[in-house]
Amino acid sequence: MEGSIKKKDVRALTLEQLREFFTTNGDKAFRGNQVYEWLWHKSAHSFDVMTNISKETRDLLTANFVINHIKVDQMQRSKDGTIKNAVRLYDDLVVESVLIPTSTRTTACVSSQVGCSLDCKFCATARLKRMRNLNPDEIYDQVVAIDNESRLYFGRPLSNIVFMGMGEPLMNYNNVLKAIDMITSAKGLGMSPKRITVSTSGVPKMIRKMADGEVKFKLAVSLHSAIDEIRTSIMPFNATFTLKDLREALQYWYVKTKSRITYEYVVWEGVNDTQKDADALVDFCRFAPSKVNLIEYNPIDDGVFQQADNRAIDMYVKTLERKGVIVTVRRSRGKDIDAACGQLANKS
Ligand code: SAH
Repeated sequence: MEGSIKKKDVRALTLEQLREFFTTNGDKAFRGNQVYEWLWHKSAHSFDVMTNISKETRDLLTANFVINHIKVDQMQRSKDGTIKNAVRLYDDLVVESVLIPTSTRTTACVSSQVGCSLDCKFCATARLKRMRNLNPDEIYDQVVAIDNESRLYFGRPLSNIVFMGMGEPLMNYNNVLKAIDMITSAKGLGMSPKRITVSTSGVPKMIRKMADGEVKFKLAVSLHSAIDEIRTSIMPFNATFTLKDLREALQYWYVKTKSRITYEYVVWEGVNDTQKDADALVDFCRFAPSKVNLIEYNPIDDGVFQQADNRAIDMYVKTLERKGVIVTVRRSRGKDIDAACGQLANKS
């Protein structure tokens, strides 16, 4: 660990900067490409494994840089196959990521921040407060770790990534974007951006920025209510980023990207389980092709929120389908190991 905070993390350098490092040190710029390939494509966690590079060059790297890689501290397996990794960062903070297997896919659910600055009343991560943003390499490493586990335990590579772990990805947008660039680049993992979903609680300014960037990944919005008063009571930042602002930003997103929006929605007893709530949701969905995922509530041990009964869910499904909105009812995975949505809170 010693020195790892003082020396610069070599993965904070761009390819150009790495090439420059070598030319200023009397070597060929191409050496930078070789090291870059080791750092990203081959996920090297030490300079010693870079076997096509001379000992002298590796010593030069060691003298100047560290590789601040993550460490999977603890891996838990659910009876449904879901795997949860407790991931230790270079400064000993811990985040969690989850591997969710189905018969046809393996999805990685990754974290973007340590803790979260938002205050959703139903989410365990919200209680941790935000400690810091994750660096691009720390997000990338979570994906690599899950890809390795997918190959090891399920005999196939990772197929999808969702930014639905700890944190609000749009509050760490630059680093999330850099991570996605590396995940989708041939110099990194070469995954298709269409298999990546960024989930946000809805930060209008950042949704517009994403639209302007003409990003190719998908967008999911954690809506939970289309009525301001109710949404503010469960997601207090809605007082600042109101539904009107959110809707306008999403409209902008759709015009720019023509990419369908997915809404994540939990129905709670006595909170948003009436016909009026479902009608408001339909109304909110009207401006663009949308899909609603009705997700199961995963209790976070305080008994304040109760999942609504099947009748309320059926009412939502009927109301949405009648108006032509695609709707799916999602069952949670990995509940027995606290790996389901909203349960990530470093209990261990
Ligand atoms: N901050 C981002 C991503 C992290 S949360 C966002 O808000 O989208 C990932 C998803 O889990 C969100 O849809 C969130 O609303 C949902 N969620 C949070 N707590 C939950 C809980 N206890 N049960 C079910 N879903 C929950």
